[in-house]
Amino acid sequence: MTSLAPADGAARWVEADRLHLLHPQHHPADLADPILWVAGEGVDLIDAAGNRYLDALSGMWNLHLGHGRPELVAAAAAQMSRLAFATAYAGSTHPAVIALAERLAALAPPGIEAFFFTNGGSDATDSAIRTARWVWRARGRPDKTIILSRDLSYHGSTVGAASATGVAEFSDPFGPRLPGFARIAPPYPYRGLDGAGAAAALERAILDLGPDKVAAFIAEPVLGGGGGVIVPDADYFPRVREICDRYDVLLILDEVITGFGRTGRWFAAEHWGLRPDILQFAKGITGGHLPLGGIGVSAAIKRTLESVPAEARWWHGLTSSGHPVACRVALETIRIIADEGLVERSARLGARLLDRLRAGLADHPQVGEVRGLGLLAGIELVADRADRRRFPAAFDLAGRLRAALRAQGVVTRVVNDTLCLAPPLTIPEDRLDALADAVAAAIGTVF
Ligand code: PLP
Repeated sequence: MTSLAPADGAARWVEADRLHLLHPQHHPADLADPILWVAGEGVDLIDAAGNRYLDALSGMWNLHLGHGRPELVAAAAAQMSRLAFATAYAGSTHPAVIALAERLAALAPPGIEAFFFTNGGSDATDSAIRTARWVWRARGRPDKTIILSRDLSYHGSTVGAASATGVAEFSDPFGPRLPGFARIAPPYPYRGLDGAGAAAALERAILDLGPDKVAAFIAEPVLGGGGGVIVPDADYFPRVREICDRYDVLLILDEVITGFGRTGRWFAAEHWGLRPDILQFAKGITGGHLPLGGIGVSAAIKRTLESVPAEARWWHGLTSSGHPVACRVALETIRIIADEGLVERSARLGARLLDRLRAGLADHPQVGEVRGLGLLAGIELVADRADRRRFPAAFDLAGRLRAALRAQGVVTRVVNDTLCLAPPLTIPEDRLDALADAVAAAIGTVF
């Protein structure tokens, strides 16, 4: 096997990285002081010098079971030996993809009945968008094509997903967004945007654009990678559902971060008894051990898919849709989450994390709000607590916090002035308490 031993020299790896690798959201300045990860164990990442860091974002919000779960390794090896690949295109199928679809049908919010698999979250967004538009065409309403999304959302980096994404930096430098997209404000309780007002903005947008033109509304249950863990008021999504029903607009729920127990429910939709028309997922479905994502569609959409002649079919597909190895690892991930009671654990430990963070940070003048749902938490920092003023960009809040956290042995991300925490659902309780204390200490060293 090709050797990747750190004995080959950390400096050599970093140099080769500079020469030949383009990173997601690449900029060479990020390589000034990179960490070279060589191993992961449980909730820890280990660098080339042997230092351990608590992986407080579960990789990229995806390692729900922590690093290197032996059961997932065994599941991948078993499937790769028996049937490494088989296509799920027309007339071809295999047990791993069928079993996963069947299992998801039992776990997904009520009404979600059939599943299509992608390689990750961005192509899940594209699949949802294409499906929504296709459905209205198949139902004889081809003008319903507009996709409504929200400011501060993140739905991915493909052209379609980035056109829905509500953070300017992620879309605008790459030329115009695709036609047929529009955005509205999300609820942001800390900044005075409540659920009723945000829902009213949705209704206004649908009426302005014309209900006969709007295909779907896409939203993350908790704004994550673009917003920084913004939890909506309890009445927001029920109102959204009513409005979507009133105007025949499909509701796409992007549960790429929130799925598989992250918020203390299998899917965040359960918090509000919400029935989306299309459910998106990725990340935690394999505990981050392999790339996999997908969409689930309602029984009504499934009926539309089945009602058309063969030549008018849903001509959508991906080579690796339902990849057997990824599906088998997903099944094993879901088994472990269920057998170990990790969904309930996420709810319980999430409350514990928030309590401890609030106790440690309540009086800090730069802590605006501590918020969360399950093991998904955010600490929004402000330059001035009285008027909730943001930091100027030149202050480089994210860079300062990252360095301070690193000194405390913690790695995570800062989004929109919010320090985000999403540790593995398996994190031991003493490590969780230590994380809350390390975060308070890190903020204390920056201010
Ligand atoms: N949707 C949401 C809510 C996400 O958080 C992400 C990624 O962070 C995506 C979609 C895109 O997923 P991927 O990076 O797997 O393409």
